[in-house]
Amino acid sequence: MRIAAGVACVGIMFGVARAAESPAVDHPLLHSIAGDIRAYELEATITHLVAFGTRHTLSDTVSPTRGIGAARRWVKSRFVEISRHCGGCLKIETPVQTISGERIPKAASVMDVLAIQRGTSDPDRVIVISGHIDSRVTDVMNATNDAPGADDDGSGTAAVLEAARVLSRHKFAATLVYAVLSGEEQGLYGGKLLAQYAHDHQWQVEADLNNDIVGNTTGENGVSDSTHVRVFSEGTRSTETPEEAARRRYNGGEVDSASRNIVRFIAGLADHYLTNFSARMVYRTDRYSRGGDQVPMLAAGFPAVRFTEAIENYTHEHQDVRNAGNVEYGDLLKFVDFPYLAQVTRLNAVAMAAMALAPAPPATLKIEGSVAHDTTISWTPTSGAANYRVWWRDTTAPFWTDSRAAGDATSLVLKDITIDDWFFGVSSVSADGYESPVEFPGVAGAFVAPTSPAAR
Ligand SMILES: [Zn+2]
Repeated sequence: MRIAAGVACVGIMFGVARAAESPAVDHPLLHSIAGDIRAYELEATITHLVAFGTRHTLSDTVSPTRGIGAARRWVKSRFVEISRHCGGCLKIETPVQTISGERIPKAASVMDVLAIQRGTSDPDRVIVISGHIDSRVTDVMNATNDAPGADDDGSGTAAVLEAARVLSRHKFAATLVYAVLSGEEQGLYGGKLLAQYAHDHQWQVEADLNNDIVGNTTGENGVSDSTHVRVFSEGTRSTETPEEAARRRYNGGEVDSASRNIVRFIAGLADHYLTNFSARMVYRTDRYSRGGDQVPMLAAGFPAVRFTEAIENYTHEHQDVRNAGNVEYGDLLKFVDFPYLAQVTRLNAVAMAAMALAPAPPATLKIEGSVAHDTTISWTPTSGAANYRVWWRDTTAPFWTDSRAAGDATSLVLKDITIDDWFFGVSSVSADGYESPVEFPGVAGAFVAPTSPAAR
């Protein structure tokens, strides 16, 4: 197909590979959560954040009006206010660590602000949404100049607060965590602190949805896209041992980490619950040679993905606020597309609710059937699962295509479907039809891998 150049065609260009598996059951609650996300709430949050001048990790922590200390205290006060409206449903924690490093030459405190909404029946299982509050200008060590950070990452922080505002009105089986992180620009310190906190509190993190740079829709090259968000995921687990890697290389699994199956799940939700908005799966841990706070979570063995706008604008990111050569540089409030950010936030909130209302994906998944015409897939039961669904797809297909209900059994024989030719997976389904992401068999696809630091 020949595609003419121009803004109008961007949706078509990026829409070619869409065919995400659709949820089997339509849930009115998820539509209502999507409908409750408000662009003006997101705008109000970022307006507040920008007003702190700079939120650089090494900026003033004492002033009531300027610097990262004031900004963090304001976020905490917002969580307190949200919690007041849900009968105290949020527990607010501020883990802190004194850090020094290449970009923190003099020891400084890095503090995260976490709001924890405890699950009703499965509280150890945790779904996280995260964004980073710290901002920067051209010189990453400049802690005094104005660094508005409206998009990077005021947008992610606003998404976290808005998800908390809307989701705290409902009850979920699993625990939801709303995480506002610091120290990202100095070396992903807030993400490391979150991973450590999750490990220390024995959280079974099913997913961290990290939102970083999610509010821009036009690049400095003139290309616009307001109908997609990129979602990045690692292919093979960061915590894989050499033996696990050898087995995976032979039998497959390089595109089926838990993180990647979370993105497939998210892509299906976007197609079903959002209007004119899709998730673009990118088979990379992050943008090329760049990083974010999902990386330390992956290193700790937790499934994690990164949301980033479809089109970045590099004259706005990490720039001194200035005019040069007819170009306005700087990460300013006026460049954020709030209706677009609302769509990204809707997708996050729907995904968190969908996962937290569903049971965990099945544990200890096995497939057997070599030198046979049938494939047998088996799993251990999951708490809260009323039944299970077995999925399979061609080994080169991006999304799960075929499925069969397994009832409440813990194994299923797929007659005349040979193990050699397909990839297989299983999802858990609650009595009211909430379905988990699909899990791929073995350590390669496990949501809680036995070799992960998190499982030790
Ligand atoms: Zn960022």
